[in-house]
Amino acid sequence: MTESHHAVFGHPITHSLSPRIHTRFGHQTGIVIHFEAIDATPETFATALDAFVAGGGTGASVTLPLKELALTLCADASDRARRAGAVNTLVREGDRWLGDNTDGIGLVRDLTGRHGLDLRQRRTLLLGAGGAARGVAPALIDAGIGEMFIVNRSSDRADALVDTLGQPKRVHSRYFEDLPALGEFDLVVNATSAARSGGLPTLPTSLVGARTACVDLSYGEVAIPFLAWARAAGAHHAIDGVGMLVEQAAEAFKLWHGVRPHTDEAYAALRERDVLLVTGD
Ligand code: NDP
Repeated sequence: MTESHHAVFGHPITHSLSPRIHTRFGHQTGIVIHFEAIDATPETFATALDAFVAGGGTGASVTLPLKELALTLCADASDRARRAGAVNTLVREGDRWLGDNTDGIGLVRDLTGRHGLDLRQRRTLLLGAGGAARGVAPALIDAGIGEMFIVNRSSDRADALVDTLGQPKRVHSRYFEDLPALGEFDLVVNATSAARSGGLPTLPTSLVGARTACVDLSYGEVAIPFLAWARAAGAHHAIDGVGMLVEQAAEAFKLWHGVRPHTDEAYAALRERDVLLVTGD
């Protein structure tokens, strides 16, 4: 049986859970996979990717901080990757890379499938306008959320994301200082990496009501401050990014191998590891 050769590229990458998830998917589907984690910075990514291809690589995941750069290395990209302006999945076709972005569908599948949330008409606050926010915003809109407010430390990036989404009556940018005046949300998504650097900006508890679902795209220690804030504010759900991670990986696996693995087993295995937080629902 031929072994397929895949990798995740990012920096830092040593703690990536992707090799473990994809190896598990391989066992489940009977596909023999060699999946490695490759450390690459924006400066070394293109060269590292060429070396990976020379070694037989046929598909790759891309994570922080390379997703926007990955789009520029693709000969073609899916509509959702173009809308996101970021690629998290590379598929080798002949001598070129095709780019896709499975982050958004991964989040929506986790929220609707695993957590049973109905996203339709949810008044939504998106914190952040980096690669992850750009990936999830179009998918949330497609899932039928109501009005969406995007708040980012660098307001020009929030404005650019609002422009990209092209729904001026539905999607608005605001400043962190505006948050106390914005009232209650049905869905609050933290797509910042603030807890990794400098800490989460102060968020008013008035954003949260008894029905509010709060979601941090991060997981592990990085998700602790936002999830603790959400629980203290009385959120109905406080959900970390583990489910999204598994679901976006399953979508990537399907692009590479033509079969979508079941995700419950991989999700449960990650939950058993004490590095990951339990959801609040
Ligand atoms: P980027 O580096 O592209 O963007 C980082 C974002 O965080 C920007 O909006 C940035 O604002 C903001 N930010 C960073 N530091 C601060 C701070 N101190 N205060 C306020 N805002 C800050 O990262 P990604 O978008 O790729 O990733 C964001 C998070 O999402 C990461 O923790 C990542 O692990 C997680 N993620 C999880 C996934 C999953 O499958 N569960 C998938 C993808 C990402 P500014 O523009 O002003 O710099």
